[in-house]
Amino acid sequence: MKHMDLPDMIYSNASRCAKCRGRALLPKRAVDRLVDASRGQLVLFHCPESAGWHVWVPNSERPHFLLN
Ligand SMILES: [Zn+2]
Repeated sequence: MKHMDLPDMIYSNASRCAKCRGRALLPKRAVDRLVDASRGQLVLFHCPESAGWHVWVPNSERPHFLLN
């Protein structure tokens, strides 16, 4: 991976997951970088509909399938 692959670039260039309200669908390596860069504000979770991963912000949103 090149140094210019900043987390924002990774996220904005990612394909979108229709099953997860258009959330960016990312490889595990990329979500790990985003979580690290967010200093704990982002949480990763595995997409229930595909082999990819997503990130979300616990304090501002909640994946609908994680609601009770
Ligand atoms: Zn998804």
